[in-house]
Order: sequence, then structure tokens, then C-alpha cells
Amino acid sequence: MLRSHTCGELRPEHINQEVTLCGWVQRVRDKGGMLWIDLRDRYGITQLLFEDNPASKELLEKARNLGREFVVAATGTVIERFSKNDKIATGDIEVRVSELTILNPAKLPPFLIEDETDGGEDLRMKYRYLDLRRGAVRKNLELRHQVARHTRSYLDDLNFIEVETPVLIKSTPEGARDFVVPSRMNPGEFYALPQSPQTFKQLLMVSGFDRYYQIVKCFRDEDLRADRQPEFTQIDCEMSFVTQEDVLNTFEGLIRNLFLKVKNIDIPEVPRMTYADAMRRYGSDKPDIRFGMEFVELKGEDTDLTSGKNFGVFDSAEVVVGINASGCASYTRKQLDELTEWVKRPQIGAKGLIYVRYNEDGTLKSSVDKFYDEASLKQWAEAFDAKPGDLMLIISGEADKARKQLNELRLEMGTRLGLRSADEYRVLWVLDFPLLEYGEDEATPGSGRWYAMHHPFTSPKPEDIPLLGSNLGKVRANAYDMVINGVEVGGGSVRIFQKELQQKMFEILGFTPVEAQEQFGFLMNAFEFGAPPHAGIAFGFDRLCSLFGGADSIRDFIAFPKNNSGRDVMIDSPSTIADLQLKELSIRVAKS
Ligand code: ASP
Repeated sequence: MLRSHTCGELRPEHINQEVTLCGWVQRVRDKGGMLWIDLRDRYGITQLLFEDNPASKELLEKARNLGREFVVAATGTVIERFSKNDKIATGDIEVRVSELTILNPAKLPPFLIEDETDGGEDLRMKYRYLDLRRGAVRKNLELRHQVARHTRSYLDDLNFIEVETPVLIKSTPEGARDFVVPSRMNPGEFYALPQSPQTFKQLLMVSGFDRYYQIVKCFRDEDLRADRQPEFTQIDCEMSFVTQEDVLNTFEGLIRNLFLKVKNIDIPEVPRMTYADAMRRYGSDKPDIRFGMEFVELKGEDTDLTSGKNFGVFDSAEVVVGINASGCASYTRKQLDELTEWVKRPQIGAKGLIYVRYNEDGTLKSSVDKFYDEASLKQWAEAFDAKPGDLMLIISGEADKARKQLNELRLEMGTRLGLRSADEYRVLWVLDFPLLEYGEDEATPGSGRWYAMHHPFTSPKPEDIPLLGSNLGKVRANAYDMVINGVEVGGGSVRIFQKELQQKMFEILGFTPVEAQEQFGFLMNAFEFGAPPHAGIAFGFDRLCSLFGGADSIRDFIAFPKNNSGRDVMIDSPSTIADLQLKELSIRVAKS
């Protein structure tokens, strides 16, 4: 090897040893008679010392001419450092250099290769290979590696085996558009890239591989919202001869094990909440339970503390629902107006915001004093379990909408009040999702039909199967999501494994028998050859890493991510292809 040690390795016990280090020149400090270089590699930084004495004039001159990011090899003696640096692990020593080789010079990098860089996002993405030299980014990939390694070892200990499934397949419905790949050998025909390996892992269960996993790339052609990538990685898992309970326990174990191994955090047993409860208590199927501020209904299915006072807005509302922002009674009028404007923004879409202040002196003051007297407000305060100093924030309207709006407000208040710290982790299972949801295809109004909320292979709860004939909206699925700090990190379900039920499901989803057979005949046929009961789950691996890293963006945890328009700006992709290539693929492109 060209080096004897790495740049993160040398300690006082190496003093007087002759060593050779290789790395990149991070910084040169020239004090005339002495010159120091910070030499950097993946493992750390070591200080090199060059002294001005008659024997080493040439060497000093050579060091003086080094530029940032030159790749060099330096041989010398480890000595104790005069002024120690306790910020780096090698800070007690330095290497007095006797021999210096320039392995490769470097152009001046377009931004500072340091944790605090002057490079903007676009520039850093264009030169991602330089960005990846920065310690902060490198650490993210190291963390990703740790998450993968401990995932494999946990599942391996439980007898799971990793099986690769194909990438050139046909559509697997996970609710997004497919990326397609033209087949040269089959003119006019296309493969689809997997949105997930869902059907293959189910087939593996039919094959008898009763515990499967794969850390696998998936592809979804979605309009890119803030933190989505067209290709992303899942920890994809499936088990046979299990109940929902077994899956929950196995993968709760995985997540707790990862927290322990990667973060040294002992996560307590993961609480569970039904979808219906989550929606009612938090207005979200992925509630952030790091803080309380649960919804309180003043008017709803089983309570009404608002009607009959001539306040039309509440009288005509399906629900009147609020949160208690504890300790916020001192909010000024200006602050409350700002909050009202915040909920009225189109992204949230509320018509308005009603507030009740519980003043420190015990009096109550609301923005609807005209309609509600002190006694009514007292009743509300009791419902909110409010005390002097609290502020109640109330939204009304159609149930689903009002709850969604209040969910946004709750999260915003949680953030403003510092209740959502990135290094506190609260894990939650959300269970019993509806099997189906009704929706319209945007392009064709009036085209309403039922969609699978998870995917078409999800099993209804056995006790709800009779409802499949009568009340589709009420059928619950044996489907579950894992939520961490308000982020959905994983989801799965018990699967349908009988042909008849699967056929029925496709029928409900609007497939003709011929279409169902054409697209998923292979799976339904397999179900006729001895399919075991099975269930599974998949975790968003990039997202899990970003959570462990305490960061918002999954992009920071992907070596070569795409930008918000789905482009890789480094290799400049996607790009056009040559006419000849198109011809070979039997693709005609409309020329504008
Ligand atoms: N295939 C599902 C998904 O990608 C996960 C599962 O049901 O196992 O969300």
C-alpha cells in the first residue's frame, strides 16, 4: 500500500515512528520559517509539519506550492504537537515530513471542501464527488451503511434470506406512475421498473422462502414533492405462516435494534393506534406524538357545545374542533392575526381561526365573545382541560377538511413551541387502515371509483369481509404503518392468498376479469398452487437514515441524488438519445 496509516489514526503512542500518509491537502498555513498542511482522507485530518532548515529547503518549497485538494503522499516522523488541538482525534501529534510526493495536482475546487461550505446546493450537486469529500456529507453515508449493516444482521439472525428480484418487470401497482423501458428485442413493448418488489416477494412465499428481505431500489414516477426521489431504497420484507401481530413484533424489533445499535437509544415498546383514532385525535394518519395538543371536539358526533347561539359559522359546521396551545394566552393580537393568516393560506385552506384566551386572572376572552358568554367559554375550557395561561385555537367546517387543517396548525404550533426536537424519537404503529378509498381521476371528472388504500394485495379484516358486498367504505384492512416523529417510515399488510378473494378485489377496483388476468394472472395462478398465508412490510430506507441523522432531507443520505425536477445535474440526465438508438427501439418521437 502507498500509505502506512490513515489520516485519522495517529496518536501519542506512535511518536517517533516513521509513517507515510496519503490524502488531500485541505489547508496550507505558511509562517515563513515553518509551514503546516492539514492532510485529509476519509478517516480524519493529520497535521504535517515542514521546517525551514538547510537540508530541507527544497522540500519546503515543494510544500509551499501545493494547492487545495492536491493528492499527496507524505513520509515523516510522528512527533508531539506543540499546541495541541482537542477538536480532532489526531490533535496531539503531527508528522515532521521528510519526503513529499505529489500523486496528482488538482484544480481549485468550485467551493470550500469543509463542513461549513460556501457552495450552494446546485453547485454542490454538480460536483457531488467533491461534496462527498466533506465530513458532514461523508458521515451521512457512513450512517446509511450502519443502518444497512445492522438491518442485515438482525434479519439474518431471524433466518430471513436476501433474495434479489428483477428490475425489468411489468407494472406493480403502488399508486404511482411506472417508469418504463423500451424493449429493443420486442418492438413496441415495454418493461416497467418496479414501484416495489411486491408481487415477487409474494411469489417467493409461494415458493416456500418463508422469510425474505431485500434492501432494494424502487422507482416511482411521481410529481416530485419536496422530499421525494424518483428512485429510492426500501427494506422490503415478507413472512409466511404469520399473523399481523407477528409482523408487528418482528419489525418493531428491527427498528428498536437499529435505534440501539446505530443511535444507542433504547426505544420503549411501540404504542399502537387505530387509523380511526389517529384521524380523530390528530387529524392525520401519521401523527407526531412527540407532543400532546390532542384535538378536542366542541361539536361532533357525540358532543355539541356550540349550537344555538346564533353563530352561523359553527351552526353550519359538521365539526368544531380545536387544540390547547398551553401557555400561549399571552399571544398578542398581532400574533393571533398572523396565525389566522397562516391557516388561511391556500396550502392549509381554512376559512378562519377562532381563539379563546384563558387569561392568568382566570377570565376568558375569545374572538367570538359576541355569541358566547363567559359560561359557554368556561364549558369549552373544561372540554380542553385548559388552565389559566392557555390559548385554545379552534377550526370548524366539514369534518375531514377541518381535521386536516387543524393537523397542520397543531404541527406548526408544536414547531413554534419547540416541542418537536430532532433528537427525540417517538415511534408509533397505526393500524386498521381502511381497505379502500373513493377517488376521482383528475383528468375525467365524474369518473369516481374505489382505489386500494395500500395496494390491491392487501387483505380485508376477516370480520369485515361481509361488508365487501354492501359498505366498501367501512371495510378495514389488516394494514399497518410505522410512524416516527410524524413521518411514515414503513407500511405493510397481511396479504390476500386465495384466488377468489384476489379476483373479487380486482373486480371492486374496476378491473374486468380479462384485465385482471392479463396483468396479475401470474399471481392468481400461483395462488392455486399452494400459497401459504403471508404478510409483510417495507421501510423507506433513505427516510429512516435521514431520521437517524436528525435531518429533514433524504437527499443528504443518498450518494448521488436527483434534484427537485428529477434531474441528475452531475451527469446531466435524463437526456435525449440518438435517432439511431430511437429507431432500434422502434420509438418515434414527435418532432416539434
Ligand atoms: N409494497 C409495499 C410498499 O411499497 C409494502 C408492503 O406492503 O410490503 O409500500
